[in-house]
Amino acid sequence: MRTNTLALILGDQLDRESALFEGLDKQRDTLWMAEVAEESTHVGTHKARIAIFLSAMRHFRDELRGAGWRVDYRELPAKSDGRTRVGSEETFAAALDDAIKRLRPERLAVVKPGEWRVERSLLKTAEEAGLPLEILDDTHFYTTPEDFARHAKGRKQVRLEYFYREVRQRHGVLMEGTGEGAQPIGGAWNFDKQNRGSFAKGGPGDLRSPRSTSPDSITEQVIALVNDRFADHPGELAAFDWPVTVADARRTLTDFIKHRLPNFGDYQDALWTDEPWLYHSRLSSAMNLKLLGPREVVAAAEQAYHDGHAPINAVEGFVRQIVGWREYVRGIYWNHMPGYVDRNTLGADGELPRFYWTGETDMECLRQAIGQTLELGYAHHIQRLMVTGLFALLLGVDPKRVHEWYLAVYVDAVEWVELPNTLGMSQYADGGLMASKPYCASGAYINRMSNYCKNCRYKPAKATGEDACPFTTLYWDFLARHQKRLTGNNRLTMQLKNVERKDKEELDTIRERAQELRERWA
Ligand code: FAD
Ligand code: SF4
Repeated sequence: MRTNTLALILGDQLDRESALFEGLDKQRDTLWMAEVAEESTHVGTHKARIAIFLSAMRHFRDELRGAGWRVDYRELPAKSDGRTRVGSEETFAAALDDAIKRLRPERLAVVKPGEWRVERSLLKTAEEAGLPLEILDDTHFYTTPEDFARHAKGRKQVRLEYFYREVRQRHGVLMEGTGEGAQPIGGAWNFDKQNRGSFAKGGPGDLRSPRSTSPDSITEQVIALVNDRFADHPGELAAFDWPVTVADARRTLTDFIKHRLPNFGDYQDALWTDEPWLYHSRLSSAMNLKLLGPREVVAAAEQAYHDGHAPINAVEGFVRQIVGWREYVRGIYWNHMPGYVDRNTLGADGELPRFYWTGETDMECLRQAIGQTLELGYAHHIQRLMVTGLFALLLGVDPKRVHEWYLAVYVDAVEWVELPNTLGMSQYADGGLMASKPYCASGAYINRMSNYCKNCRYKPAKATGEDACPFTTLYWDFLARHQKRLTGNNRLTMQLKNVERKDKEELDTIRERAQELRERWA
């Protein structure tokens, strides 16, 4: 059967409001979706990440068919012959090529993909087939990559804060009044200083568990498929309870607004043993799959403020992550790819320690963060930035290896958001494009923000000796190794002065121990 437009829907484009549907005709046009193993194997993906994509895609397919659309859908066949390596599977391009031959469309259309590699591959396939491919703006976001480029033009550095203010102003988010005279609600743009609380000795107390989404029959089938076909991939599926439909995602949002948003601001950066969620929203995967739009999420948070349910430091802190960071990292990604992924300003070339894939380490903070990552496919921001990311930075791991790990292990990982966070924010590999300084800290930071160190065999204050905290040893070693490059960065003046105060003997001992550590995990 011949089709007019073949409209491609990628796994992270499950958006009924998307521009793709404008002008399509249910009789003439065909929607195309495909599950291809390459998307799970080009990095050895966590089982939960594969499951969330496949389950959400199948639910979306059924919803579209129920609404009368013709959907050409390729399901991944189940098989357990262990052939899950790149090259041994059908690729995205091959699956599309096959659909083009069968359906003989006159044109192709797609919303801008979330990954540069995928966009290139689609363009190449379309060109080889001699078909026009229209790439539409992704209207899910508040901004386009071109908006970011306009903002960046003429600025020496693009910092989050001014971009965030511009987006808030333009979209009237958390603003009082209208037009030129509009002011930020609460009298300030940013309540960051009130977002850094930690728990007292007793910890967060009895926390209410977040609402769980029980797997339905589609999700159960997908879980069986993943357990069978991707048995050798990292991660677990026993606790899989992620939202995979719009209705599930909305219930997750309501649960967050009601029970966790009021404390989100105070404890955004806090960490606690065996408490993976604390006051976080768990909404990133639903938003990245496009089941939920950021406007809907932000409007719900604003309403909670107007209803007196949540304070301004919580609501602004939450809104900043979505209207600010989420849009900002996408701008960085599209304005700096494809070269961005190869950046390595600090020349780091170490291997990622094996324990990142097993959680087997005697460093309690890493055991906690990696253990829950493997169990749930989730860690909150400070665990990603200041535990797993920080350790890799201090150790000197090749940023590309770090990027591959983050892209593989989180249910919310899509390259446009993962790469700048990893390479830019956590590894400083882009030389300060994204972060004004490396996020380097010693074990003292982790000790201040968590109770992990109480249960650890190492001592966060010690840099040398058998029980010295590896973070602390590597922190001083990192500053000493990069002293020359980092001198002149005002935000590091104090830290660098403290290195200078250390006598040569102490620094030599630290260097020796740091070298031992690097050899241990090489
Ligand atoms: P909450 O803490 O409840 O925050 C609310 C929302 O704000 C999130 O759902 C997310 O959409 C957004 N958000 C928060 N921080 C950021 C940020 N830095 N960049 C973009 N959006 C943000 N986020 C992803 O969505 N996918 C990734 O692959 C990803 N990789 C990361 C890798 C590293 C090294 C770091 C440091 C951060 C990464 N983040 C990523 C950002 C952040 O850690 C996650 O968005 C957050 O932990 C998701 O949990 P949550 O939904 O409970 O978030
Ligand atoms: Fe982590 Fe060091 Fe604290 Fe142990 S002592 S939990 S390694 S920061």
